[in-house]
Amino acid sequence: MDYKVDIGVFGGSGFYSFLSNVVEIEVDTPYGKPSDKIAIADYAGKKIAFLPRHGKAHQFPPHMIPYRANLYAMKMLGAKKILAPTASGSLKPEIKPGDFVICDQFVDRTTGRKDTFFDGPVTKHISSAHPYCSELRQIAINAGKDLGITTHEKGTVVVIQGPRFSTVAESRWFSKMGWDVINMTQYPEVYLAKELGICYANIALITDYDAGLEGRDDIAPVTEEEVLKVFDENNEKVKKMLFEIIKRIDTDSKNCDCPEFDLKELSLP
Ligand SMILES: [Zn+2]
Repeated sequence: MDYKVDIGVFGGSGFYSFLSNVVEIEVDTPYGKPSDKIAIADYAGKKIAFLPRHGKAHQFPPHMIPYRANLYAMKMLGAKKILAPTASGSLKPEIKPGDFVICDQFVDRTTGRKDTFFDGPVTKHISSAHPYCSELRQIAINAGKDLGITTHEKGTVVVIQGPRFSTVAESRWFSKMGWDVINMTQYPEVYLAKELGICYANIALITDYDAGLEGRDDIAPVTEEEVLKVFDENNEKVKKMLFEIIKRIDTDSKNCDCPEFDLKELSLP
């Protein structure tokens, strides 16, 4: 691999290109090909790798994304930190469309996804007690505040299998549990980053109120058109936020408890 990068960025629904003057490279991994070519460019003195997790033509629905290949490709390129913006639904009235949530916990409601690099014979049980990088999260929170963007400092994201959206009953259950945000891709993406020793932060852009809000008949259930419309309107804001975070990241230091991991420890398929 001739390219060495510092930071990886995964683009979500509605977010298919990021930097200018990119070199696009084709990467192959023991887990197959990532969702698309990876775009590499410099920004603020750092080498950035960008990969739209659904593919540029949104050809991979959430449950079909090659998560392991995407994460392995970033690790091969040398990325030590990953920023992961996502389009997400809100489960609480005070978290509004257009807001950002810097999630600190997830609840996994997905099924059947390839969600580990440890299929044996090497076995490792990695803690996911605190799945998100504390240092990257703090940088994101500070960047959001300084840019004047409504940024919620923490949140639990419930990750559903998709591609369908929630029923009213499911959505009511999730909000009653006290969960904040709903999404289809955070699991296993964040956990696979952890297994590979890559610091990871999610920037959830709120696009909708899932299946609606309790006692609010005026809020209609989410549709795909609505998600993409709100994302389009906020795309520049997401990019501004990412640029600000990248400027503030010190790629030479690490002040968090995220475990480190060498690819040599992996038994490949
Ligand atoms: Zn970390």
